[in-house]
Amino acid sequence: MNAKSTRELEAQRAVLLRQLRRAGPAIEGSPAMVPRKCGSATCECAHGVVKHHAMILCKKVAGRSVATYVPKEMWEQVREWNQEHKRLKKVLKEMSALNEQIIRQHVQDKRQEQAVRKSLSVLPLQKGPSIP
Ligand SMILES: [Zn+2]
Repeated sequence: MNAKSTRELEAQRAVLLRQLRRAGPAIEGSPAMVPRKCGSATCECAHGVVKHHAMILCKKVAGRSVATYVPKEMWEQVREWNQEHKRLKKVLKEMSALNEQIIRQHVQDKRQEQAVRKSLSVLPLQKGPSIP
């Protein structure tokens, strides 16, 4: 793997930060359409025919599935919020991976710097100011 310089990594991170600054409303969960009964006794749905749907947004809370009912007039909005949540999650994940690389690069740079310093200190000393 060809390691990127810290400067390159920071430039990539700046792009991600700009993407985060453009964040809109976001909501976690998996949207699902489930059959719904309208309540009318004369409707086909009362006899098991699937005619209506409800939207729910499911997520896991402490290992249990929790659903939020979404009213029809909010379906489109909630789909957009949910897309935004996915986008932000991806950006955050990339940001985290980049910062891990920045940490590793920092450690590597420091090691290299120390190695250079060490190799300089073993050079035969010439007359002149001494290196502390
Ligand atoms: Zn019905």
